Amino acid sequence: MPVYKAPVNDTLFVLNDVLGLERYGNLQGFADATPDMIEAIIGEAAKVAEEALFPINLSGDREGCTRNDDGTVLVPNGFKQAYDQYVQGGWIGLAVPEEFGGQGLPYTLHAAVGEYMSSANMSLMMYPGLTQGAIAAILVHGTDEQKATYLPNMVGGSWSGTMNLTEPHCGTDLGLLRTKAVPQDDGSYKISGQKIFISAGEHSMTDNIVHLVLARIEGAPEGTKGISLFIVPKFMVGDDGSLGARNGVSCGALEEKMGIHGNSTCVMNYDDATGYLIGAENKGLSAMFVMMNEARLGVGLQGLSIAETAYQNAVAYANERIQGRSLSGAKAPDKKADPIIVHPDIRRSLMTIKAFNEAGRAFVLWTALKSDIAHRSQDEAERQNADDLLGLATPILKGVLTDKGFDHAVIAQQVFGGHGYIEEWGMSQYVRDARIAMIYEGANGIQALDLVGRKLALNGGRAVMAMFKEIGDFCEENRGDEAMVLYTKGLKKGLNDLQASTMWFMQNAMAKPDNAGAGSTDYMHLFGLVTLGYMWAKMAKAAQTALAAGDPREDYLKAKLVTAKFYMERIMPETALRKVRIEAGADTMMELAAEAF
Ligand SMILES: Cc1cc2nc3c(=O)[nH]c(=O)nc-3n(C[C@H](O)[C@H](O)[C@H](O)COP(=O)(O)OP(=O)(O)OC[C@H]3O[C@@H](n4cnc5c(N)ncnc54)[C@H](O)[C@@H]3O)c2cc1C
Repeated sequence: MPVYKAPVNDTLFVLNDVLGLERYGNLQGFADATPDMIEAIIGEAAKVAEEALFPINLSGDREGCTRNDDGTVLVPNGFKQAYDQYVQGGWIGLAVPEEFGGQGLPYTLHAAVGEYMSSANMSLMMYPGLTQGAIAAILVHGTDEQKATYLPNMVGGSWSGTMNLTEPHCGTDLGLLRTKAVPQDDGSYKISGQKIFISAGEHSMTDNIVHLVLARIEGAPEGTKGISLFIVPKFMVGDDGSLGARNGVSCGALEEKMGIHGNSTCVMNYDDATGYLIGAENKGLSAMFVMMNEARLGVGLQGLSIAETAYQNAVAYANERIQGRSLSGAKAPDKKADPIIVHPDIRRSLMTIKAFNEAGRAFVLWTALKSDIAHRSQDEAERQNADDLLGLATPILKGVLTDKGFDHAVIAQQVFGGHGYIEEWGMSQYVRDARIAMIYEGANGIQALDLVGRKLALNGGRAVMAMFKEIGDFCEENRGDEAMVLYTKGLKKGLNDLQASTMWFMQNAMAKPDNAGAGSTDYMHLFGLVTLGYMWAKMAKAAQTALAAGDPREDYLKAKLVTAKFYMERIMPETALRKVRIEAGADTMMELAAEAF
């Protein structure tokens, strides 16, 4: 049977030793998050993930969801009970302001907890995950009345949320959107159209579902400038908050799909459904972007989460499975063969995943902390810097952690040989589940374009310069530290490749945009390699500092330094390859006529 144990010690190392969360007591909600409190919350989250969510992960994959003839949807056995347990623990509202029923704690903590929950059961976690995105959009763009009507029940988990963008002919290019909204005398709208691929669109786990729907108000301009956002509840809500008649929205079908079988992916039909405008008319995309940015971090986290579970299972298998003898002589002479963990190629696989996961965890929490600073700091300059870095990091985190999450689920599956391919060991589920994270919330090619086409040049390149400065300052501060040379040397080399590639885009992509498109995915990964390298250098520094102070976690801290070295020796050098590809430009790629493919 598959195993999962939440990496509590590693999370605490990042939060306390690397990020020094204690230093941020001036931020709203951080004073309550004392180290003891953080440890207690992380420990409790680990228990929920391991004991309530993980045991029904495999069965949820096998059972999937079912749509009844009346349009209702059944989720797998045990999902409702586990959802209720998650909700009762107050996990949905961990970082939501207290006035709406949340706990007002740092978003950083919410991200730390989110990793465990998605590692344990990604399909189940998508139900509250979509709700959290919808809460974020209503918090920022909703009227006071909308906040009072919807937020307490959503934060409390008795109502869930969805996001409805995609239509059959309209995925990435939302300008093609056709769902229409007709204004009514009472200020509401009648919404009609069809949405596809809607996660958690229909299910029986909550009393109501609050759909956030993009639609075009009659007479609005074509393209993205004519799109508005609407709240469309499944059941109408009375003035006193009671639930009334069924609204004109229904699930027409469930999509059959490769993975995340426990999550209901729905075709949603809107037939004159009553909707309420949220945010300004024709400004729906920017309102939806609040939800999408939050969701992009959540999806990046899914990549890490699945890679972590797949890794833990591969490690357990590699220690048990005996095949062949070690190249350097028998390691288990009492057995007929050695455990496969003695083989360098198996080590290469496990070290690669370990090196990405631990840096990925630090990257997620570093980014979440930037989000907290951007939203909660009293200092304008500090807020702006954090907001710039958050905006820059979001597409990198989403694109790189999900591309690597899938690659690493495959590598972990490979450790099992044929036993990874058959369903018995559960490894196929991780590969299938990880795959979607590369696609939804903006396919990864689009994340790369967002980075190169939008984020690089935004505000005269302020964000990218801030990132280069932060990494450059770190290298400079550690220049005299002999023990850090190994790490800062690798990091600086990567940073040079990144800066040179950035310059290459400045000089070659303005006049010829295809050059930007042709190099964007390599650039996103190059940026990811350097950012994760920066995380490794920071972790190496923290580990060395703790070791020098006689910290009792000696084995753990020494393993950190070995893994940091592995990253610098074997993963960081990929920056040079990415740079070469970027500088090759678009010409050859674009040369063949479409018929030649
Ligand atoms: C299981 C599942 C759950 C989902 N959940 C939701 C949900 O809850 N709500 C929701 O609204 N949607 C949801 N989606 C939809 C998802 O977000 C879209 O599938 C995704 O945005 C891509 O749109 P598309 O499938 O139409 O692909 P397309 O837009 O047709 O893209 C096809 C390919 O072309 C590339 N491409 C497109 N345009 C460009 C361009 N300009 N430049 C370069 N490359 C380009 C893309 O990167 C992609 O590789 C879900 C999808 C799935 C499969």
